[in-house]
Amino acid sequence: ALHMHFSQRSRFLGRVTGNPVRAVDGVSFSVAKGKCFAIVGESGSGKSTLARLLVGLLKPTEGDVTIAGHVLSGVSESAMRGMRRRVQLVLQDPRASLDPRMRVEAVLEEALIVHGLGRTADERRQRIMRVVRQVGLDAQHLDRFANELSGGQRQRVAIARAIIVEPEILVLDEPVSALDVSVQAQVVNLLMDLQEQLGLTYVVITHDLALVGHMADAVGVMYLGAFVENGPVSAVVADPRHPYTASLLSVVATSDPKVERQRAITILEGQIPSPRDMPAGCTFHTRCPLAKRIAAESDGGVLPHRCLTEKPAPRPFAGRTITCHFAERLHEPQPATVASTI
Ligand code: SF4
Ligand code: MG
Repeated sequence: ALHMHFSQRSRFLGRVTGNPVRAVDGVSFSVAKGKCFAIVGESGSGKSTLARLLVGLLKPTEGDVTIAGHVLSGVSESAMRGMRRRVQLVLQDPRASLDPRMRVEAVLEEALIVHGLGRTADERRQRIMRVVRQVGLDAQHLDRFANELSGGQRQRVAIARAIIVEPEILVLDEPVSALDVSVQAQVVNLLMDLQEQLGLTYVVITHDLALVGHMADAVGVMYLGAFVENGPVSAVVADPRHPYTASLLSVVATSDPKVERQRAITILEGQIPSPRDMPAGCTFHTRCPLAKRIAAESDGGVLPHRCLTEKPAPRPFAGRTITCHFAERLHEPQPATVASTI
């Protein structure tokens, strides 16, 4: 299982171990081997930072990132490389991450060489041929340059480059959102096939709830560098219990009455606060519709004192972990504005 912990104000403290321990001052998640954990949130929530910390592209300013007991930061360059091999990153736009002047074969061979895999050219060629077929390409693509490929093919090459080094975890940062809608499903299906065949563990970062519903077993909703709600997809997405999640995943009525109402990620009112200017108490209190409603119902009309002064601790609630003092009140019956009596 994989376990992480964030501290406030971008001072990252992360841990990924086989034996998750909930951190006192942060939010944690764990995902069993072969499962998929999704991270959703607005831009600026810190989810891309998390991805980069996980793969060692960013170093925490405080604390360590460790995976299965191995420290990812602050160790020797060769130990770092070993960890980097085990956790591979696939980015949204392979155009940005694939050198257009390199042929596909060279891209894949370079990944092997960087990680010291494949001793001879023959051995490397065999590995390259195998992985190219695994991602649904063939030998003819090996001589192409990245910019001669379609978007879907480029993303297949990026996936091939990640899996050729035999990682355990893939961090997928918006893996299909740069692709044409017509090829998104193909790439999602490829990712799910590979996950099953190779026993990979996925951490997928996305704003696409259809993707979350399709791929993920569990989901964490991020706000200002911390999870506010995290748990099984079946609970969190279908029935959000944190006011941020409930606003973010608003219900969208579909025109077809036979289709169940669907959730979509909406833009919340107000700006996400700067990490340098973190609200005291609950970091969501500047935008929280529940705190506003409680204020409106109170005599003075002021936000609850606890929201303003006391940082909520993650706690188990309704089959997930939630970080809100008043989650119980989210669905309480609203006072009727017009009394209708007979
Ligand atoms: Fe809103 Fe208060 Fe809950 Fe924070 S603790 S989410 S401000 S109700
Ligand atoms: Mg991002």
